[in-house]
Amino acid sequence: MKVLVLNCGSSSLKYQLIDMDNESVIAKGLCERIGIEGSKLTHKPTGKDTFKKEAPMPTHTEAIKLVMDALMDPEHGVIKDTSEISAIGHRVLHGGSKFTESTVVDEKVKQAIRDCFDLGPLHNPANLMGIEACEEAMPGTPNVAVFDTTFGMSMPEKAYMYAIPHEYYDKYSIRRYGFHGTSHMFVSGEVLKFCHLDPEKGKVIVCHLGNGGSISASIGGKCVDTSMGLTPLEGLIMGTRSGDIDPAVVQFICNKEGRDVNDVLNMLNKKSGVLGMSGGVSSDFRDIEAARAEGNRLAGVALDAFIYRVVKYIGAYTAAMNGVDAIAFTAGVGENDIKTRKRICENLSYLGVKIDDERNNVRGEARVISADDSKVQVVLYPTNEELAIARETVRLVG
Ligand code: ADP
Repeated sequence: MKVLVLNCGSSSLKYQLIDMDNESVIAKGLCERIGIEGSKLTHKPTGKDTFKKEAPMPTHTEAIKLVMDALMDPEHGVIKDTSEISAIGHRVLHGGSKFTESTVVDEKVKQAIRDCFDLGPLHNPANLMGIEACEEAMPGTPNVAVFDTTFGMSMPEKAYMYAIPHEYYDKYSIRRYGFHGTSHMFVSGEVLKFCHLDPEKGKVIVCHLGNGGSISASIGGKCVDTSMGLTPLEGLIMGTRSGDIDPAVVQFICNKEGRDVNDVLNMLNKKSGVLGMSGGVSSDFRDIEAARAEGNRLAGVALDAFIYRVVKYIGAYTAAMNGVDAIAFTAGVGENDIKTRKRICENLSYLGVKIDDERNNVRGEARVISADDSKVQVVLYPTNEELAIARETVRLVG
């Protein structure tokens, strides 16, 4: 069974065609600058040369058609006909409080995605466009929506409710949702097996540390808490996002500088995090580390603060679960940054965590990186959101 996985952004479309009989990637690619001058498709069929094409893509509909043409191209293609694609799995950012699970798309589901435009203004409209483009290009092929928010739907009320007047929950569904849910679901589920933990009771903390970052706590693969909130702004210090902050800071800056709330929120989302803390060095952790090594004090403070926040969340989530069996690192920083993993783990000795330097000297490969006598297993586990979406798709329509 072949499943096409789509991740549509406002001006981009990433795809993977996966053969679910052996979970191998047949082809993957990217459409860039959709709706902008200079749109481009990059198509990488496994085992064949990469193919690039510049062509107008005013909307996601044209982009999907180009992807289909590339997939069926006599030279760069990997299938003969669209009928070989059994189903399409879509990454959808926000499912609001309606979806506790991935779901097969019908008119009601599309309306629900539309109803969440307010909650995911950049992503949800693009995600819906991707679904509608597929309906047009492949009529009759089932589409499955996999929401970034469903993993967080198993959080108990005490974890997801904000301590604000209840009417705002009733009126606008304001609560903590959590994001990167597909990654947390995938990694926490895999780590339960990888570390031979009890599938029902295993307590896992997943640190998804990329440009955006979040941490989740789960028991038996079910989320009990996660660090992002109503939007991805809450929680860790990220590449450009501030994470947790006293909301009065917003009012203070608005009053002092005569700016409006939207403007300051934009600053908290796009100009803060390690980029802002370092005085503008970079949002990329590699650049921050290089600047710190060259003696840039603020870059050092940004990195220390990033690690400190991760360590605090791990402590909080261990308390929330009354223990932890495994801590997993994933995403760009989590999978590649050997020093940062070590520094985080050095602050967890009170939990009996012992990192093994030789085992930790690895990038992008599933591996236990703690010592045999560590009380908590620490693992590096590469995330694979596309595979998680494809598995959900097979589960629902296979
Ligand atoms: P996102 O999907 O949120 O854009 P990724 O998970 O791809 O982010 O992570 C990207 C980040 O990973 C980069 O910004 C970079 O800081 C970090 N990263 C990648 N490789 C390394 C490395 N070798 N050392 C430190 N950080 C790295």
